[in-house]
Amino acid sequence: MSLIQIEEYETPPGKTLVETIKASIRTSETLGLERCIQCGACTASCPAARFTDYNPRSLVKSVLENNRGVLELETLWNCFYCYTCQLRCPRGNSPAKLVQVLRQLALNEGKGLENMEHFLDLGEFFAAHGISRLPDYYLDKMAEAFGESWIEFKKKLPELRKELELEPLYIRDERLEIRGILEGTGHFERVKKLKRGLKESATKKKGKEEVNFEKCGRYSGKEAFIV
Ligand code: SF4
Ligand code: SF4
Repeated sequence: MSLIQIEEYETPPGKTLVETIKASIRTSETLGLERCIQCGACTASCPAARFTDYNPRSLVKSVLENNRGVLELETLWNCFYCYTCQLRCPRGNSPAKLVQVLRQLALNEGKGLENMEHFLDLGEFFAAHGISRLPDYYLDKMAEAFGESWIEFKKKLPELRKELELEPLYIRDERLEIRGILEGTGHFERVKKLKRGLKESATKKKGKEEVNFEKCGRYSGKEAFIV
């Protein structure tokens, strides 16, 4: 059994992908998966599809055809849960939710683990500070795209807001409450398992080389959240 096996109650395995997805705690009973008419409105409005080969309409088609090859797709990891597809779908379907279940199924089979590093970064920051932020990996890519001056501008934003006599950005301080929820829902155990899985897979791939979970530190702290 894979190290990253989820709890059975979360996604009981069905005979088909459709059955599994519909039984998942992540989807609602009213999910219009089987009502999909392949209109493509999801793909037309999907930001990830606009800039990459990811295609939510074809993902839904593969699921309806019970094609487990979807679990192998690199593009499965391109969705970033903006939920535009769900909003636009005329049949009450949600490719965003499908992706969540499919990713978990992929992880259960030891696939796509390398994509979890960014999520772990995000989760760790959330647990420590009670807020979300872009993982360092994305910040580096954005700095590449927009230039270091953009990062510098974002870091100086609080100062700039003060100068402009704007209110400071409000950061909720509910860390203990959030930590309690994360503890109660098994978040930290799950993170440990994922890290173990990642290390094992990195060791298999590169001999004894280990995955480095230390942050790069370039954009650490609260200032990173506003970047
Ligand atoms: S928008 Fe809805 S109905 Fe249209 S292809 Fe996408 S999932 Fe199917
Ligand atoms: S949630 Fe994912 S699939 Fe849906 S529109 Fe956003 S990026 Fe695309």
